[in-house]
Amino acid sequence: MENEKGKAGAAFCLRRYYGRVKMMQGADDMLQEIINKTKRLVFFGGAGVSTASGIPDFRSAKGLYSERIGDLTPEMILSSSFFYLHPAQFFAFYRSHMLFPEAQPNAAHRKLYELEKADILRGIVTQNIDGLHRKAGNIRVYELHGTVHENYCMDCGEKYDLNWMLANREDIPHCPHCGGVVKPNVVLYGEGMDKYVCMGACREIGNADTLIVAGTSLSVEPAASFLSYFRGKNLVVINRERTPADEKATLVLHEDIEEVMQSVSVHV
Ligand SMILES: [Zn+2]
Repeated sequence: MENEKGKAGAAFCLRRYYGRVKMMQGADDMLQEIINKTKRLVFFGGAGVSTASGIPDFRSAKGLYSERIGDLTPEMILSSSFFYLHPAQFFAFYRSHMLFPEAQPNAAHRKLYELEKADILRGIVTQNIDGLHRKAGNIRVYELHGTVHENYCMDCGEKYDLNWMLANREDIPHCPHCGGVVKPNVVLYGEGMDKYVCMGACREIGNADTLIVAGTSLSVEPAASFLSYFRGKNLVVINRERTPADEKATLVLHEDIEEVMQSVSVHV
């Protein structure tokens, strides 16, 4: 039923953007045609890319801690000010809601790895912090919001991986070398994104001839602004719900990302 609805939505968009002739083709065929012709594909992804790997969108985890420390949203807890004011509560939330060490790349991640290997995909720009694109094997990944796989001591700079964070039993993890607080390398609300990651992401998007935007409502700034750097031919949107980018997209697929990406063939 869900699929039927998705197909109807896609058909609607195709009718709108392509007219009668191209309606003869399926939406998935159109995506294949676009990918066959592209020389510089860039993928811009959000939380929807990882849901099939069992990682929920944390924004859906509302009302946590409501009895203990007020009615706080995940966005408030994952903010820079909350981290400094209530580090123990921050880490309790972070460890229980943001870390999924068992999660594996899904079919969409694996297809993107194939596309990078075939030198079609030039870069992945992601809002996700789960590290699943790197786990799938991709190298050219721009993690706008950082990654849970890296942590660093705020005093001496020593780096620690995810396993270290998982094994640590302190309410607030401290550096074994100097005693400083160890902070996850994720961009909290109120913090700026890494300058070099942003520059790399903008460069890749600006040089792309095709941009696939998937699994994001584009509601979180400044990530949505990255799309304005795109000057290429084909903007493809794959998302269950409508996005602000639908209007200017060449192809809109209101379908399941994993299913759509799975259907793509990689011709070298
Ligand atoms: Zn240290």
